[in-house]
Amino acid sequence: MIDAVYRPESRRVLDALSGGSDIGETVRIFALSLLALSLAGCVSLTPQHEQRLDEIQRFADRATAVYGKPFVKISVQRATNLNIGAVYRQGNIFLNERMLDSPNLKKTIAHELGHYVLGHSGFIPNAVSQADWQRAQEQKELDANAKAVEILMRADGLTEPEAVKVVADALRRSADAQAKDNLPLTPGHLPASAELADLLARFPDSAVTLR
Ligand SMILES: [Zn+2]
Repeated sequence: MIDAVYRPESRRVLDALSGGSDIGETVRIFALSLLALSLAGCVSLTPQHEQRLDEIQRFADRATAVYGKPFVKISVQRATNLNIGAVYRQGNIFLNERMLDSPNLKKTIAHELGHYVLGHSGFIPNAVSQADWQRAQEQKELDANAKAVEILMRADGLTEPEAVKVVADALRRSADAQAKDNLPLTPGHLPASAELADLLARFPDSAVTLR
């Protein structure tokens, strides 16, 4: 549910955050992340950013209408040093203001809507260990990527190859950033390269057209 903005300048903080290995630490990072987002408050936007926010809110509105789900409000939050692009929580998508300039914006919103449509919450029943929790969370992220493809098709009328390309291109950019800047992974996520491989395996016919 928490998705990354890869920024070299936030690496120091990320390095500090990525040190934790027990489940309490992971939960603490999520709690801190949500707290940081909720404390960040409103942001004044440039006209271009207002327009982009408008566009993605309309996309979210089309998606919730298509799936017969209650409205989701997208709120832009001041950028923090935390490695978070967006998070879905209780009828809201909290978006890091940096995402408004990111080529990954559409994918990020589609992915968060994927969590929403799939009914994902932060709670994972029967996770008795850190490894269980991590595996279950990673699976949710993969499922949200695949759902994002379906949402792009149903809410935006893209063909499957077009929709797969939106998600795959974003994952490829993240994978390149992870490789280039040696960034740690976002909690709950596999490396972006592994998420990309999973996506392409789910849509083999569309994956062929990407090569
Ligand atoms: Zn996610």
